[in-house]
Amino acid sequence: MKKNEKIAIFLLIFAAFVIVAAGLEFVDQWKPDLIIPGPSVTRTARLSDYFPKLKGEYCDTTIYFLESGEPGGTVMVLGGTHPNEPSSLLSAVLLIENAVVTQGRIIVIPQANLSGFSHNDPQEASPRKIHFETAGGGVRVFRYGSRATNPIHQWPDPDIYINQFGQSLSGSETRNLNRGYPGDPEGNYTEQICYGIMEVIRQEASDLSIDLHEASPEYPVINAIVAHERAIDLASIAVLDLQMEDLDYSLEISPPSFRGLTHREWGDYSDTLAILMETANASQGRIRGKTDEALVLTGKDKMYVKAAELGRLYVPYDENGHPIEERVGRHLTATKMLVENMNMLWPEQAVVYHGVPDYYELMEQGYGNYLLPSL
Ligand SMILES: [Zn+2]
Repeated sequence: MKKNEKIAIFLLIFAAFVIVAAGLEFVDQWKPDLIIPGPSVTRTARLSDYFPKLKGEYCDTTIYFLESGEPGGTVMVLGGTHPNEPSSLLSAVLLIENAVVTQGRIIVIPQANLSGFSHNDPQEASPRKIHFETAGGGVRVFRYGSRATNPIHQWPDPDIYINQFGQSLSGSETRNLNRGYPGDPEGNYTEQICYGIMEVIRQEASDLSIDLHEASPEYPVINAIVAHERAIDLASIAVLDLQMEDLDYSLEISPPSFRGLTHREWGDYSDTLAILMETANASQGRIRGKTDEALVLTGKDKMYVKAAELGRLYVPYDENGHPIEERVGRHLTATKMLVENMNMLWPEQAVVYHGVPDYYELMEQGYGNYLLPSL
């Protein structure tokens, strides 16, 4: 055999190895995350139970019902609208696995855009998975996904996305779940997911619906509660209560002209009180340095410390970063404040629960401590 033939065979074998290895990683990204029903989960449903057209589709995400059996209201919590904002999924998971509901019920959709968890954005160099050791043993793993629906499920993007209100957005926003509300049963894949979630809110008559997010530290709406105008009283009192706990939040009223977002369309197209919340996530920011699992979990980044020194950020930032415990703790404590204030304002629709760690408990004990063991 000639030398160049040997080299060619070697290169072919090497290429085959790379293709198989990349393919296995690709398939691995499609495997579902383990979420363990906690003490109050009475049943689960799928999005297609509310919008049958989604049956058999990858996006047909699981809905968890935490029901007390006692009369009261309904609160819905949505995680994973943007799967590259991990505190949203991780907060929803702690509710599912820990909450003990004694009045009313909580509906949790931890992975609202499940399609977005099936890929991530190669040029962002994001880690594919994040890991936590649990107190009871074993390691729990969650996917770190993309901001948007997988192009395998929705392709191609138009040059300009014109939403249902005739507003023009950049083409990739056509796959952004938080631009497609109130959804359209005949619309694109993402708009159909929006329609399914809208149907959950309407058919279950959710009294208070909370959409959990994270944002880049350089983004102005951060450590924030954004409220539909019917929810503004509720959100105002919650922000004051949070300040008493040393948790600063800015309060934003949902802009009436910015269409397609949860805090606008959930409130306009159902009777629910609509809220969106943001925490600070350096791993999705534009001026971050090395992007790895440690950055996702600790939020420590020298570039952001520098940016803060230069006064360029909308959130305090020092060498302590913004760990995942802080971000999940903020979401869970603010959710509790909102629910307790709803109970005060409208006692007939009260939802009472306990067992979920707050900001200070998470900061002390760590996130993994509150996950159920995978053994
Ligand atoms: Zn988001």
